[in-house]
Amino acid sequence: MKTRSPSNSKDLKVLNRILVRNIIRKMGPIARYELAKEADLTPPTVTVIVNELIEEGIVKEVGYGESSGGRRPVMLELNSKAAYIFAVRLQRGEVVTAIFDIGGNILNHHKRALDTSVAEDVVEAIGSSYDWLIENTGIDKVNVLGCGLASPGLINIHRGLIEHSSNLKWDKIPLGAMLSKRLYGIPVHVENISNAAAFAEKEYGCGRGYHDFIYLNLSVGVGAGIIIGGKIYGGAKGYAGEIGHMVLISDGGPECGCGRHGCLESLCGVKAIIEQAKKELPDQVLEKYGLNKNKLEMSDLLYPPVLERKEVQKIIKETGRWMGIAVANLVSIFNPQLIILGGELPKAGQQVVEAVIEEMNKRILKEFIGTVRVVRSSLKEEPSLMGAYALALDALFSIEKWDI
Ligand SMILES: [Zn+2]
Repeated sequence: MKTRSPSNSKDLKVLNRILVRNIIRKMGPIARYELAKEADLTPPTVTVIVNELIEEGIVKEVGYGESSGGRRPVMLELNSKAAYIFAVRLQRGEVVTAIFDIGGNILNHHKRALDTSVAEDVVEAIGSSYDWLIENTGIDKVNVLGCGLASPGLINIHRGLIEHSSNLKWDKIPLGAMLSKRLYGIPVHVENISNAAAFAEKEYGCGRGYHDFIYLNLSVGVGAGIIIGGKIYGGAKGYAGEIGHMVLISDGGPECGCGRHGCLESLCGVKAIIEQAKKELPDQVLEKYGLNKNKLEMSDLLYPPVLERKEVQKIIKETGRWMGIAVANLVSIFNPQLIILGGELPKAGQQVVEAVIEEMNKRILKEFIGTVRVVRSSLKEEPSLMGAYALALDALFSIEKWDI
């Protein structure tokens, strides 16, 4: 995201345009006088900018608002069909893509299996999904102004570079540049999957209105997206939140995807849950529900009759307990207002939240108890896909030209 300070009147005008456009995006429908107040600009300045935005089709008038004494004001709103964003959620074995309008509506989405980790092939798979979506939504490619991509791994967001991903088995892949070329030159914003999800929660989910919270992605990988002061906290190099490799067992423990032992992910990741289920669920139970021990998936364990088995409930409780220890550590470091549990594991139900809270409360100073809420993600769409969209939109609204 570029930040600039105005050095001349032309720059100032551009910044005012961005400001006005952003206020309409976030607060619309909004009247001109309210807009001027919010932007701290004079009404004539706002009128000039709004007229330009209406002429360009970016803003539209949407009827009348409540009168505060005089004439009823004309309300302004962003024209959500003025532009579109392509969003991508990537993980090993699968890619989900979608076209959003800038009002946050999904026009269409596309899910496909990936049988390769070769970067060029992954880029081509995403590119062909894009072409398919363009064709099926009937929109003009020219109006797709940006792409947001959420990927697992350590990511240099400024260069769109995947520094390392054990999930994708990638090192130093310039995914942003490669994909931008395949997507006919539109800018691509790459972000870590948990950070993207946290951003979506902040904009559209349980995190709305919170400035300091942590989103936990509990899937095959375990990671955190940390929001501090309303912004993603990336740390020195943008790698913050790799809590999957927080060590919980110092001598031994199960082997982790990173090659070490005793990491949180080796205890709470979907792989660990499935391994335990394979050991604990009797063969006749698996047979009864037509499940293959060697192909057991998380969705099999979430199937209600299986989920209600005491063996599965025990595994979920135990996993929640380990998570509770990790959450207690996070609470002690960051003092968040809210912890959002997302990903696969929380789909097992409210008992995951209860196990986390119970264990967390045993391990934090008593002054922290009751200061942090723990909830399950309630976003309808996949949080990291929504986040990829929201981050690209944010970037789009922060740069100086609409027609990049
Ligand atoms: Zn690890």
